[in-house]
Amino acid sequence: MTAQIMVDLERVHPVVDGRWHRATLTGIPGPGEVITTLCGRTEQVEYLPYSSAAPLATICWDCDLEYRARHGIATLPNHPALRGTVPPAPRAK
Ligand SMILES: [Zn+2]
Repeated sequence: MTAQIMVDLERVHPVVDGRWHRATLTGIPGPGEVITTLCGRTEQVEYLPYSSAAPLATICWDCDLEYRARHGIATLPNHPALRGTVPPAPRAK
């Protein structure tokens, strides 16, 4: 018997430098596997409990902008990635 953990790949958002990014995943990447985010970051995968990253992370607006473009989602002209006013990521304590 196995315990199946179901993962919705649309809800997998890799955290890099305190930001929630997006990536187009075709499967669950293994630890150490390299993925590329929609904003172009290439990073190795590491798995951690959700609670260890959530309080610190903020959205990657560049990934959000690219995700919207790929899915035909409207983007307002004041989107932070368009204005160049993306706030800095929070720093871990
Ligand atoms: Zn990103």
